[in-house]
Amino acid sequence: ARLSVGLLFGGESPEHEVSIVSARSIAAHLDPARYDVIPMGIARNGVWVLTGDPFARLAAGEQPERGPHPFLPFERGAEATPLPDVFFNAIHGAGGEDGQLQGFLEPLGRPYTGAGLLAMAAGLDKWITKRIWESEGLPVVPYRGLTEEGWARDREGALASIQPLGLPLFVKPANLGSSIGIEKVKRFEDLAPALDRAFRFDRRVLVEQGLEVRELEVAVLGGDDPFVSVVGEVLPAGEFYDFQDKYLDGRSTTRIPADLPAGLQDQVRASAAAAYRALDAYGMARVDFFVDRPTGRLFLNEVNFIPGFTSISMYPKMMEASGVPYPELLTRLIDLAIKRFQQRA
Ligand code: ATP
Ligand code: MG
Ligand code: MG
Ligand code: MG
Repeated sequence: ARLSVGLLFGGESPEHEVSIVSARSIAAHLDPARYDVIPMGIARNGVWVLTGDPFARLAAGEQPERGPHPFLPFERGAEATPLPDVFFNAIHGAGGEDGQLQGFLEPLGRPYTGAGLLAMAAGLDKWITKRIWESEGLPVVPYRGLTEEGWARDREGALASIQPLGLPLFVKPANLGSSIGIEKVKRFEDLAPALDRAFRFDRRVLVEQGLEVRELEVAVLGGDDPFVSVVGEVLPAGEFYDFQDKYLDGRSTTRIPADLPAGLQDQVRASAAAAYRALDAYGMARVDFFVDRPTGRLFLNEVNFIPGFTSISMYPKMMEASGVPYPELLTRLIDLAIKRFQQRA
């Protein structure tokens, strides 16, 4: 039977536009013989845009008022929208990739793609993610975590605690993506202003030792015993893989598969599966690694549960190179959503 797929996109995070591009690509590749796509946009103000052409309306920056129901974030006129058979979540970052949406969808009683609330919430928070991986003995880049209140209370103490990490440093909001808010700091006198800027994005900020890295990524698909793709490599054009490089001028290049010794490839793929399981992931994830060039040591960097999903994004490309073409990948994600839902029911 044909399934109606509620394709969720947009969202309130700074990755709103990226999500629109991901979702357009998903809509174009969902097998039309099997699925009816129902685009469901979430405007920048959090209101669900369910009437007319949600793609066009979000692209135009529309932010409609909430409808009459005080408990629900839908626009006026959305009452007639039928509940889809399954939700496909293409919302990056806060609101979509952090458990909020999962918690909202759960009581609707329909399957949704990707992991559940716990994994999403833990995985978007780079600080929590590192603590979980550390507790499993998985290697993470040396770091310090700071809260906004801690930073305001004792700036000198915070700076002193970071000093042992050396230079350069990477300052990152804990709950973001697409490199938004990330700064490379090369002099200690630049650290405090960089922290002040990072705290505009989040009340939790990480400071990491800045390594000279090769950047490896792996696409993971499935449940507790997931399929792991070949390893891909990103070669950023600039100083690091920043927003500009990811989405604006796209001067970075990628290699799929990465040119790696067989032993390192196996290590990366096994670590990706372990990192995935440690977070109780489900559905999909792109797990990102660093290889420290001077020492050759492998570190987990981060996980992305709603990775970039255009047809030229790393996640679909790594899956494609591993024998899972984009339309089949979408079908597998929907099948997994239904399987997880049935297991829990
Ligand atoms: P994504 O778009 O993949 O979700 P993100 O915003 O979550 O990215 P990170 O992947 O943590 O952020 O960092 C973005 C980029 O910054 C990395 O791809 C890398 O180029 C650089 N970078 C981050 N941390 C470090 C580090 N500790 N040492 C060296 N480079 C780093
Ligand atoms: Mg990320
Ligand atoms: Mg991300
Ligand atoms: Mg990243």
